[in-house]
Amino acid sequence: MASNASPRADIAKRLSRMIQLPTVSAELESRGNTPFEAFVTLLEELYPLVHTHLTRERITDFGLLFHWRGSAHNTDPAVLMAHYDVVPVDESDPWSYPPFEGHIADGFVYGRGALDDKGPMVVLLDAVENLLIAGFTPARDIYLSFGGNEETFGEAGERIADTLHERGITPWLVLDEGGAVVDAPLPFVSGKAAMIGVGEKGLATVRISARSEGGHSSVPPPLTAVGRVSRAVTKLTPRTFHARAPRAIPRMLALFAPRSSGPGRMLYRTLAAWPWLNARVFATLGGEAAAMVRTTIAPTRLSGGTANNVLPSQASATVNLRLALGETVEGTARRLRKRIGDKEVTVEVLEGNDASPESPSDGPQFALITEAVRASHPEAITVPYVTMAATDSRYFHRYCRHTYRFAPLMMNAEQRAAVHGIDERVAISELERGELFHRTLIEGLSA
Ligand SMILES: [Zn+2]
Repeated sequence: MASNASPRADIAKRLSRMIQLPTVSAELESRGNTPFEAFVTLLEELYPLVHTHLTRERITDFGLLFHWRGSAHNTDPAVLMAHYDVVPVDESDPWSYPPFEGHIADGFVYGRGALDDKGPMVVLLDAVENLLIAGFTPARDIYLSFGGNEETFGEAGERIADTLHERGITPWLVLDEGGAVVDAPLPFVSGKAAMIGVGEKGLATVRISARSEGGHSSVPPPLTAVGRVSRAVTKLTPRTFHARAPRAIPRMLALFAPRSSGPGRMLYRTLAAWPWLNARVFATLGGEAAAMVRTTIAPTRLSGGTANNVLPSQASATVNLRLALGETVEGTARRLRKRIGDKEVTVEVLEGNDASPESPSDGPQFALITEAVRASHPEAITVPYVTMAATDSRYFHRYCRHTYRFAPLMMNAEQRAAVHGIDERVAISELERGELFHRTLIEGLSA
């Protein structure tokens, strides 16, 4: 059923109002609950039909779950996600406009959260409100899931996912932040691409430590605790973990090949045809390409010893790892121990979460996302890739095979750099396109 919905005016003003509430989850202690509660109230004011036609549940203090009943019974729902907390602003940063003013200028809305993730939230809520105004009912049930502590790895997103799971609900589709519409995504590739995250890397922070006899440094043993830990860290080269290309990569390259010029066309076509080669080539390229095909290792801290001339009784190094798709924290720690191969060295996991599995990029869910992109960003091709950052959707990915990460907004390199940085802003024309994306997606859900 086509809705014939037409968008309400002033989407930029609604986003501006959201930005004006400083929902900084990392500063909850100093700012208190007030901005978060005010945000929940603001949503009631901005989206009256959402609040009358959908049921709202509060899950923990920071999770909002809206349920929109579809026309068909007993079908698996779509879960559309965003988060309304933001990261802090460094007071000394030279913003063009105050970061919590929601300033509108030159066709942009400025402020913390404009892209991450209040912009993606406003386009979703606007689409639902517009469809409700037109009297539309979706074919499947839809849940809108909003977390208020995503940036601090809080539990709202996890509790929402658990709640649906406990109720025996397995979503047909989960869509959260992650990818975006970007320009010239790879060398030699021209034009725009909607990058859909079909998986996200995991994370592990481990402490590598050793102990040794103390004493005066004039009579040292062959290896002190500092020496032992250093040796262990040196062994952790990028080759510690095997490179393996997710299925998304050959697909991505095959889609990019016809859009490439010069040597790129041949290169991408060849790589797409030989998946085993991708892992090697990407690993050799380093940087983001390498990060897509294997677990990365970054030693971040070192400590040990108490004085210049005293043998250290202990030393340790902290290593931050981003796990390749399908890898577990436990398996990663095991591999590190094996690589280090020293019984005197302890490898201890401080924190971590497993990488997600990979969602298919050839099913009806991916096709629906592609169709919605065609409506909102007709100049872009829709391409699967691997998201480097963690999102709340990882809790759904534990039990929902069709979890995707994409915010339907065009972001150039400069704008992407402003996420978590200075002068975060979104084009008003992109908010309008983002609303169209979600409207098309929701209308296209068939039971
Ligand atoms: Zn975010």
